[in-house]
Amino acid sequence: MTEQKAWQAAFDVIASLEDNGYEAVIVGGAVRDSLRGHMANDVDVATNAVPEEVKRVFTHTADVGIQHGTVLVIHPMSPVEVTTYRTEGTYQDHRRPDQVQFVSSLVEDLKRRDFTINAMAMSGDRKIIDLFGGQEDLKNGVIRAVGEPIERFKEDALRMLRAIRFSAQLGFQIDDATFQAISRQAQDIRFIAVERIKAEFDKIFTSEHPENAMYNIQQSGLAPFLPGEYRHQASYWNHFKASEDARKGWAYFCLLQQPQDSQMMHAFKCSNNEKKQVDEIIKAYQSLISTGWTKKDYFTFDLEILKTAYEFANNFGKTIAQPKSLIEIEKIKSSLALQKKSDLVITGHDLIEWSGRKSGPWLKESLDQILTEILENRLKNERQQIKEWLLNERTH
Ligand code: ATP
Ligand code: MG
Repeated sequence: MTEQKAWQAAFDVIASLEDNGYEAVIVGGAVRDSLRGHMANDVDVATNAVPEEVKRVFTHTADVGIQHGTVLVIHPMSPVEVTTYRTEGTYQDHRRPDQVQFVSSLVEDLKRRDFTINAMAMSGDRKIIDLFGGQEDLKNGVIRAVGEPIERFKEDALRMLRAIRFSAQLGFQIDDATFQAISRQAQDIRFIAVERIKAEFDKIFTSEHPENAMYNIQQSGLAPFLPGEYRHQASYWNHFKASEDARKGWAYFCLLQQPQDSQMMHAFKCSNNEKKQVDEIIKAYQSLISTGWTKKDYFTFDLEILKTAYEFANNFGKTIAQPKSLIEIEKIKSSLALQKKSDLVITGHDLIEWSGRKSGPWLKESLDQILTEILENRLKNERQQIKEWLLNERTH
C-alpha cells in the first residue's frame, strides 16, 4: 500500500514538473527493484530543474539535502525526494565530494551512478531508460560498474563495499572486471568513514545472502582493511537466517571471530544498545552450550534472545540436550513460576523486617536466591513460605 502511494506520488511529481516545462524521471533503486518485481518504498525522482525551480513548482517542500541538489516535495500521498541532475565534480581522498555540480542532461547523471542495475531511469510514461545494459545485468544477476571499474572505485572507495552489499541483498554475482578492480583498489577502503562502512554491514546482516558478502570480502582482498576476521566465515553464513534486526547478524559475526570477539563492534562504532543486545545473545549462547539453560536463564533472557542463541548453537553444530525445539523454549519460558521480577510477592523490605538485619549485599543475594528457588519449583511464591525459608533454610 505505502509502496503504491510512493509510486503514485512520484508520478504526480513528474507530471507537475513536466507541466512546468522541466524533464523528470524516476531513478536508482526504485527502478531496479520494480524491474525485479519488488515495489520499493523510496521512489526517487531526478530532474533538470535546479532546486530553486523545484521549490517554485510545489507549494510544500523541505530542504533535506540542498547541497546535493535534493528537495523533498511533500506530496499528500507520500513525500518524494527530487534531485537535480548532477555529477559529483572532483573526488578527494577516494570519497564522494560534498560539493556537486548540476548538469542539464540525464545521461550525465546516469553516468555518475555506481552500477548498471542502479543506473536506469523510468519516465512518466513508464518507459525504461537503460544506457549501460542494466536490464540485461539484472536478468543475469550481475553487478557491474558503470564505466571503467578501477576509475569508479578510485573516485569513491565505498562503491566497492556497495557492490558487495548488493551481492548479498540481491544474491547476484559481481562481474569479473568489477571484482578484479575491487581487488586492486581494496586498500582505499581505509579512506571511508567507519560509520558508512558499518551502514553497509547492517544491510549485509539483514540481507538474504550474507554468505555472498563474506565470501567476496575475503576473496577480493578487502578483508585486511576492514575491522574483524573473515576467514572461514562464508560457509557458516549459508545457514544464517537473517532477520530485520541487524544485531542478530552482528552477534553471529562476533561469535565467528577467532577467537570470539565482541570488542570488534567498537571498531565499527556500533551503538551501546547494539553492543548490549549482542552481549546478551552471546551470554545466552555460551550458557546454552556449556551447562545448558537453567530456569533462571529462561527467566532472564527475552524469548527472542533465547531463540537466536538456540538457532546459533544449531548452526554451529553444537549438541544440546535441552531444549529440543524453538517451541519447547516457548513452553518452558511461559510455564515458569515467575514471568517477571515484579511477580514476586515479597520485596526487600519484607526480608529486612523478617530477618531484623540491616540492608546490605546479603539482601540482593537473598532475593536472587529466592527467585532461583521459586523458578526451580523448590519454593512457592507465597509470603509465609518465603518467610520460613528465609529464617530456616537460607544457605548463607
Ligand atoms: P537501497 O536504498 O535499497 O539500499 P539504492 O539503490 O536506492 O538501494 P541508495 O544508496 O539509496 O541505493 O542510492 C540511490 C542511488 O544513488 C543508487 O541506486 C545509485 O544510482 C546512486 N548511488 C548511491 N551511492 C552511490 C555511490 N557511492 N556512487 C555512485 N552512485 C551512487
Ligand atoms: Mg535508496
